[in-house]
Amino acid sequence: MLQEAGASAVAVRRPAELDAIDGLVIPGGESTTMWKLAETFDMLQPLRMRIKEGLPAYGSCAGMIMLADRIEDGVAGQQTIGGIDMVVRRNAFGRQVDSFESDLDFAGERVHAVFIRAPWVESLGADVTVLGRCEPGDRIVAVRQGPLLATSFHPELTGDVRVHRYFVDMVREL
Ligand code: GLN
Repeated sequence: MLQEAGASAVAVRRPAELDAIDGLVIPGGESTTMWKLAETFDMLQPLRMRIKEGLPAYGSCAGMIMLADRIEDGVAGQQTIGGIDMVVRRNAFGRQVDSFESDLDFAGERVHAVFIRAPWVESLGADVTVLGRCEPGDRIVAVRQGPLLATSFHPELTGDVRVHRYFVDMVREL
């Protein structure tokens, strides 16, 4: 998806690999596992530092949880990288079987969004811009704060490259 959006993509697994990138995508998956692996591989502090320094980052689903300053319904002791002044509720739309797809407006464009045991944004600070909401409940599912972008849904699963392109354009403009 990143290549299609005009960027070259490399995997980042070690702190030193953070030096060579202009932007970071934190994909979906399981935020509790990401947190534990980030600690095991000494990535949590370097990630926090790079993001504090202004590294652009895009988190989808579990990645959104990782970019949230505060979370609800995390496991005991669960930590995030943080960066976006928001509270994100894990598994907010329900369990795996409650996963769903929906059309919604993302930054003014109609996109088809896939939600898999997805979080939503429960509350946000004044510096955070809402880029997308969805039913049920008109929940906030896409946000931006400066160089940080997050969506509850998985644009990489639809073949529609516009959300990734939005991020790549953001990185280029910063
Ligand atoms: N429920 C997962 C979590 O808490 C996120 C699911 C996903 O990324 N699709 O991290």
